[in-house]
Amino acid sequence: MTKAIKLSVLPSLEPERAALEVCVYCPKLCRAACPISDASPREGLIPWGKMTTAYQLARGAAPLDHAHAVSAWACTGCMGCRERCDHRNDVPAALGVARAALAAQGLAPPAVEAQRRGFGRHVARAERGLARVAASAGAAVDPAGAPLFVGCTYARAMPDEAAAMARAVSRLLGGPVRLVGGCCGEPLRDAGDPLGADRARDSVAASVRGEVLWVADPGCAFALRFGGLDARSIVELGATRLGTLRQLPELGPVRYHDSCKLGRGLGLYDEPRAVLTAILGRAPGELDDRRELARCSGAGGALPTSHPEIARGIASARRADHEAAGGGTLVTACPSSALALRRAGVRAVEFGALLDRATE
Ligand code: SF4
Ligand code: SF4
Repeated sequence: MTKAIKLSVLPSLEPERAALEVCVYCPKLCRAACPISDASPREGLIPWGKMTTAYQLARGAAPLDHAHAVSAWACTGCMGCRERCDHRNDVPAALGVARAALAAQGLAPPAVEAQRRGFGRHVARAERGLARVAASAGAAVDPAGAPLFVGCTYARAMPDEAAAMARAVSRLLGGPVRLVGGCCGEPLRDAGDPLGADRARDSVAASVRGEVLWVADPGCAFALRFGGLDARSIVELGATRLGTLRQLPELGPVRYHDSCKLGRGLGLYDEPRAVLTAILGRAPGELDDRRELARCSGAGGALPTSHPEIARGIASARRADHEAAGGGTLVTACPSSALALRRAGVRAVEFGALLDRATE
């Protein structure tokens, strides 16, 4: 009987042993799925390479240093590899455990560690943004309303669109919403601090016990739902009110980009298309790679912090995909994607702004 290789250097990776070993001995079937290795074609950055490095680090077969540790952060958590994997191996989950083990050794990329240390300031800025959203949304926001969690990216970087979202959700529900503060914890999880992430998520949960929580950012919805909350995307809400949506034919050519967390994460492929069809009066255009095989915009998993050039390269590749399909407006449900795509020169519109206009 062969003896199991010991993961003695990073023993907290033991629960991920099966996932790691399946990748280590795999003929790299998912290599074409990974947006990271697509933008920076290096063997060490395909899913197999990142899993193998984590495995080698855990067993002491690679030096425990920053140069090797950084590959655990070369992942947006897009789950694209899972769709091409016969084992449906959960690479981002295993790399997440590796991040936590490596961060505990002081081996998180310095920029990511700085972001983790600044988490308190991050939340404070989001709370200030949320106050602006409430002021701008007017009567749509009320402390007695249904809970709406817009998420830090909307609150900090897109307050106008968040206010539009609050107005739209209020109209769709037929009553005001109350803005739920705090953070779903994903920035901490991405940094390698799962305990801090759980605490942040639990503090959101404490303010919505027993209620449906409507969530604007699909990444937050994914994190909160799998943390046990009844968290639902506002796209789902729109899909249950199709008959109330006004057509906006002036939008011109519109194509839909599947957000990783809305699609592969929450399984919502038909709902955003149904909403867009109701708003446009026709089905939206599509990218060549769509639904389960949609390609990531590079904005998740702390990639823009750990590997900013690769993140920009991925967004530029999505712009090229969009232009090759005919250009026009690209609609996404993800605020981080919308920001990354805009920076890459795409006319990107997110769902909140559309729903606001379609429910006026
Ligand atoms: S995720 Fe699946 S296909 Fe990709 S390397 Fe691992 S085992 Fe192979
Ligand atoms: S989850 Fe996405 S970014 Fe991460 S390894 Fe898989 S395909 Fe690459």
